[in-house]
Amino acid sequence: MAEADYGAGGGYDSRAVTALKRPDDAGWEGFATRAVHAGQGPDPASGAVVVPLVSSATFAQSSPGSPGAFEYSRTGNPTRNAAEANLASLEGGVGAVACASGMAATTMALQLLDAGSRVVATRDCYGGTFRLGEQVFRRHGFEFAWVDTSDLSATTEAIRAGASMVFVETPTNPLLRIADLRAIASACRSEGALLVVDNTFMSPFFQRPLELGADIALHSTTKYLNGHSDGVGGVLAVRDPALLERLRFLQNAAGAVLSPFDAWLLLRSARTLALRMERHDENAGRVARMLVERPEVSRVFWPGLPDHPGHALAREQMTGFGGMVSFEVGDVDRARRVMEAFRLFTIAESLGGVESLVNHPATMTHASIPAPIREEIGVTDGLIRLSVGVEDDVDLLADLRAALGTAA
Ligand SMILES: *Cc1c(COP(=O)(O)O)cnc(C)c1O
Repeated sequence: MAEADYGAGGGYDSRAVTALKRPDDAGWEGFATRAVHAGQGPDPASGAVVVPLVSSATFAQSSPGSPGAFEYSRTGNPTRNAAEANLASLEGGVGAVACASGMAATTMALQLLDAGSRVVATRDCYGGTFRLGEQVFRRHGFEFAWVDTSDLSATTEAIRAGASMVFVETPTNPLLRIADLRAIASACRSEGALLVVDNTFMSPFFQRPLELGADIALHSTTKYLNGHSDGVGGVLAVRDPALLERLRFLQNAAGAVLSPFDAWLLLRSARTLALRMERHDENAGRVARMLVERPEVSRVFWPGLPDHPGHALAREQMTGFGGMVSFEVGDVDRARRVMEAFRLFTIAESLGGVESLVNHPATMTHASIPAPIREEIGVTDGLIRLSVGVEDDVDLLADLRAALGTAA
């Protein structure tokens, strides 16, 4: 797309990205190496080992109408572009666009479509995604088919009925259902539909949707990517340069960009992503296996458990099972007693940070879903969801045991 296509007043200049991509990025095979180095320093101007936080809104021009690599920070910002280069490398894409939140990223993905488009999307997706579709984009003439994307035949049937975009979350929240990304990608190709995968729960360390055939890997970076519960953000990574240009256009035109400070935090966090994800997964595995043994617990949901319905598929398309564990204790009173008894797990929404959190979906994250629908999709009143952090497992397990004791 020629720069003139963007209209007057701030075209995106692709030099702003290439200027920051070190030529040897492609040579780094290991994920952890790329997490530490892709898009990350040393800064050519100062030698700083950490990418500088550039807060400047605008950039000097040598003569009128001839900007350098950067012109205006909505269009391109050195710190944000470094974070985008880093995330593109981790997802195995050609580029990425960073947004103000996960919901801003989802909005931007939907803005690729025209009014009248039909979107097939995961039924038990993040509540905000459902709300955005039903209460915002439906008013703009979109049609949504919400399906259980862990049911492959129901999903492919819905795609064959016509779809411009398929929006899949896997594993889902809070029951961790798994969708077959390769099979869904192939159905999307036959239908000419764009496949967007919300990869928030796994992070690119455990799952890379672009390698499985998706067009867009989407994240709420608020969760594992930022990982310290101190920043809100979102990102879309793609493997097709033409699609990247369309997203760049939308990022600049609509303007819900990630702030330089949040981009800087994201770069800081990427450096430990591999270490953190390994520890989340290890701890979650210990927690899940302990919960299975407890008499107070009737069901445990974690894709790493051999009797999880998506376990075999998870082993095929993921390289770990993540830090999210849900379990049933019977009813709302027991759930409340157990949750109030925790001393290490903090009662809070959100997930993916280094500290362990506990959430009661029926009254917290999923409260906006009417009770009958909640029961139908399996989010019962006795369900508790854990975001298992990176603390020592001995303390996590002791806290859980003590809390469960109050349910008896
Ligand atoms: C949190 C979350 C979102 C929304 O992201 P925000 O950063 O809160 O806007 C989208 N999808 C999933 C799976 C999430 O967990």
